Amino acid sequence: MVTINENYLKLQASYLFSDISRRVKQFKDENPALGARVIRLGIGDVTRALPPACIAALHKAVDEMAVEATFQGYGPEQGYDFLREAIAVHDFQARGAAISPDEVFVSDGSKCDTANVQELFATDSRIAIPDPVYPVYIDTNVMAGRTGVSHNGRYANVVYLDCTRANGYVPALPQQPVDVIYLCFPNNPTGATITRKQLEAWVEYALRERALILFDAAYVAFLRDPELPQSIYEIDGARRVAIEFRSYSKTAGFTGTRCAYIVVPTECMGYDRAGNAYPLHKLWNRRHTTKFNGVSYPVQRAAAAIYTDAGQQQVRGLSDYYLRNAALIRRTLSALGYPCVGGENSPYIWVETGTDSWAFFDLMLQQAQVVITPGAGFGACGQGYIRISAFNDYAKVEEAMARLQKVLPKRATTAS
Ligand code: PLP
Repeated sequence: MVTINENYLKLQASYLFSDISRRVKQFKDENPALGARVIRLGIGDVTRALPPACIAALHKAVDEMAVEATFQGYGPEQGYDFLREAIAVHDFQARGAAISPDEVFVSDGSKCDTANVQELFATDSRIAIPDPVYPVYIDTNVMAGRTGVSHNGRYANVVYLDCTRANGYVPALPQQPVDVIYLCFPNNPTGATITRKQLEAWVEYALRERALILFDAAYVAFLRDPELPQSIYEIDGARRVAIEFRSYSKTAGFTGTRCAYIVVPTECMGYDRAGNAYPLHKLWNRRHTTKFNGVSYPVQRAAAAIYTDAGQQQVRGLSDYYLRNAALIRRTLSALGYPCVGGENSPYIWVETGTDSWAFFDLMLQQAQVVITPGAGFGACGQGYIRISAFNDYAKVEEAMARLQKVLPKRATTAS
């Protein structure tokens, strides 16, 4: 008899975006004329084409694959040196963060990396997870058996870090000891950012408690405020207590091309039950080389092209484009009286609706044919909020905002 991993039975009914797709499909089936008007500002998928520098590098690499002299077979699982070096130099050393190429592991996505990293930790590790949150962090810990069952949208044995208007959507340090902490800035879903001082407090906490911070910087390309830290390794001591995730998905439009990386500094430690320290770099290297074949050569060439002068300019153009959408969304919702956060250093705008977030989702779909993401899908603290994504064409965002101005009830509250 095949016995299943019963932890899967604890998972809540469905993945958020499948729920949204189902509701949109039903609306379209029932209202074919209105269905054609649907504008999607829900799921965070990019719409702009790959930068020309990446396309040129892809073509060239494909041609290399056609000739035996330059053909590439299995590559190094950790990534080719040309890409790891470019990452270390441009994304870290240029900002004063001492990361070396061998601490970078190239992968096919931050979803997989943030999902897989928890394999390195004991099943009884105490995990701290923000609420609201990118659902992958919590679901993968549920699958691994690190949580109890869910009651009213919260799993037992998880320390939830509430992100609310009161704390500026940056969680306070936990009251009880925890071992593994997930942080994501600029944040999905709230769009909030973390200051250097706030991040220093988290690093200090981790050093004191011998905890580990999993820092997801998938949206770093959208940071415009020069005072904000881009990498956790800009903070003293972070090399000992933090793993960082980066993705080209939103940075360079790679959602369908697939390339990302994880940084595991050699000084970063985990401990056995006797308190002996083990480098997590070594464990991750073992995991990565055993379970992952590496990203394809042409895709890594395309990713490396991002670091050329032309590539840098082009990816900046991409994030500028989406930030212009974000500014329009934030301006519109604020003018209607809805308090907003995000949209300035982030492609997401987190909007306080003051009503049930799925009801607000239905209202926007039915009245304006605009699809957003209900905040409640990201956690209990998301109830009463929606997330609007800036990933779409500017003309469509303009049209969506014009519709919202017509149909959304004005709120009396002062917009933030
Ligand atoms: N981390 C966060 C916070 C995200 O929002 C996403 C994607 O939406 C990811 C990671 C995954 O990125 P990737 O496309 O590299 O898997």
